[in-house]
Amino acid sequence: MSEDYQVIVIGAGPAGYVAAIRCAQLGLKTVCIEKWVDDKGESKLGGTCLNVGCIPSKALLDSSHKYVDAKKDFAIHGINSESVTIDIKKMLARKDKIVSQLTGGITGLFKSNGVNSIFGTAKLLANKQVEVINTAGEQTIYQGEHIIIAAGSVPIAIPPAPLVDDIIVDSTGALEFSSVPERLGIIGAGVIGLELGSVWARLGAEVTVLEALDDFLPAVDMTIAKETKKVFKQQGLDIRLGTRVTATEVTSNGANRQVIVEYSDAKGTQQANFDRLIVCVGRRPLSENLLAPDSGVNLDERGFVFVNEQCETDARDIYAVGDIVRGPMLAHKGSEEGVMVAERIAGMQTQINYDNIPGVIYTHPEIAWVGKTEQELKATGHDYKVGSFPFAASGRALAANETTGMVKMIADAQTDRILGCHIIGPSAADLVQQVVIAIEFGASSEDLALTVFSHPTVSEAVHEAALAVSGHAIHIANKRPRKG
Ligand code: FAD
Ligand code: AMP
Repeated sequence: MSEDYQVIVIGAGPAGYVAAIRCAQLGLKTVCIEKWVDDKGESKLGGTCLNVGCIPSKALLDSSHKYVDAKKDFAIHGINSESVTIDIKKMLARKDKIVSQLTGGITGLFKSNGVNSIFGTAKLLANKQVEVINTAGEQTIYQGEHIIIAAGSVPIAIPPAPLVDDIIVDSTGALEFSSVPERLGIIGAGVIGLELGSVWARLGAEVTVLEALDDFLPAVDMTIAKETKKVFKQQGLDIRLGTRVTATEVTSNGANRQVIVEYSDAKGTQQANFDRLIVCVGRRPLSENLLAPDSGVNLDERGFVFVNEQCETDARDIYAVGDIVRGPMLAHKGSEEGVMVAERIAGMQTQINYDNIPGVIYTHPEIAWVGKTEQELKATGHDYKVGSFPFAASGRALAANETTGMVKMIADAQTDRILGCHIIGPSAADLVQQVVIAIEFGASSEDLALTVFSHPTVSEAVHEAALAVSGHAIHIANKRPRKG
C-alpha cells in the first residue's frame, strides 16, 4: 500500500489530464496514471488526441493542404509553382516533432500545477483503491478519496478486415504511411476516414471510400452533408454509399503487396483492389480489464462507463469522463467534462451544456456545426426559421479564392433563439465558435444580426446568415424567410 490521494485520475488524454490539472489548481492532492507507451518504448502523456489523433492528423492535413495549394491553387494568384514536390519523410518528422512538443508540454503542466504523474496500467478495485502495474511490472495500490476514470477509446476492429502490417491499417497506421499509396481504400465515411482520406488524396493517392450506410454523414445537417459530398467528389474522393465490406485478402506479387476487398452493394458482391486500406469504422470505449467486479462502477451494454449528466458513476465519489462515457467522442467534450468533475469534487456546482458542443471535419473546406440540424427539428415538429449565406457572396472569401460553401443558421420560429448553425467553408471551425458563444449566452439571431462584424472577413457570412433568418441579408437577394 502506498500514498493516499484526494483524487486519482486514470488516463492522461484530454479528458484526464485536464481533469487532473483543474483538480490540482483547486488544491486537491492529485495523481494521474497513464499507460501509453509509444513505438520507441517511451511512456507518453496526452492520450489519443496528442499521440495519434487530433494533433498528428491536423499536422498532416495542414502539410498536405499547403502542398495542394501550391500545386493547384497558387496559379490563380499568378504564382508559378508547378515544380512543387513533397518529401513524405520530412512531413512525418514535422508531425512527430509537434506531437513530442505537446506531449512533453503536458509533463511541464503537471509539474507546474503539482499533479503527480505515474506511468503504469491502472485497475479500479473495491473501496476506491487503484492497482497500478508500472512499466517494470511492479504492483502498487493507491487509495483515493475520489476517482476520475478517463481511459478513453480505441479504434474498432471488424472481422472482415483484420490489420496486416502497413497494408491494412487503422487510423494510427494511416498517420505513418512512408509513401503515398497509388490506390487507397478506406472503410467508413465518418469524420476520421474523410480527414485521413483527404490527406492522402491531396498527396496524389486515388482514394475510394466504402461506406455501409446509404446516407452520407447522417448526423450532419442535410444541406451541408449534400454540399460536402459534392465538394469531396470534385476533389476526387470516390465515396461509395450502401457498400458493406465483407472480406479482405492481402496478396503478394513479388515485393508488391495489395489488398483485395470484397464488398456487397445494391448490385451484389463486388471486388476492388487497393495498395493500402484504412479501417475507420469508429471507436469503442477502452473499458476491458479496467474495473474489478466489486469496483461498484457499471458499464452500459456497449461497454461505456455508465454515468449521469454530471459524469457520476453508480459508485459514490467515482466519476468518468471523455470517450469512455456516452456522447460525442471529441477531445473538447472530454476536457469540459474533466473540468466539470474537478470543480464538482471541489464543491462547485459546474454543469455542461451538452446541447452546445461543436463538431468539426478538418477537411478543406472545413465543415463545422453546433446545435440542432434541420432534419432533427423536422423530426420533432419544432417550428424554426432558416437563414443561409453563400461564401460566393463574401468579398473576403472571393479575395482568398475560397468561395465554396455556406453558413446556415437556424432559429426558433417564435422566440428567434438560435438553435443551430451549420457551415461548410473557409475557417468553418473558427466561425462556428462565434455561434457557440452566442448560443451559450442564449442569443437570438437578431442579437447576432445587431452585432458589428469586421469588414472584410469571412465571419461576415455568419452575420449575413443571421440577418437572412428574418429576411434582412444585405449582400444577397433575400428569399422569403424559410420556416419549418
Ligand atoms: P484518450 O485520448 O483515448 O486518452 C485516454 C488515455 O487513458 C490514454 O492515454 C490511455 O493510454 C489511458 N489509459 C487507458 N486505460 C488505462 C489504464 N487502465 N491505466 C492507465 N491509463 C489508461 N477529437 C476532436 O475533438 N477533434 C479532432 O480533430 C479529433 N481528431 C481525431 C483524429 C483521429 C485520427 C482520432 C483517432 C481521434 C480524433 N479525435 C478528435 C478524437 C479525440 O482524440 C478523442 O475524443 C479524445 O482523445 C478522447 O479523450 P480521452 O481523454 O477521453 O481519451
Ligand atoms: P464513425 O463512427 O463516424 O467513425 O464512422 C464509421 C463508419 O464506418 C460508419 O458510418 C459505419 O457505417 C461504417 N462502417 C462500419 N462497418 C463497415 C463495413 N463493414 N463496411 C463499410 N462501412 C462500414
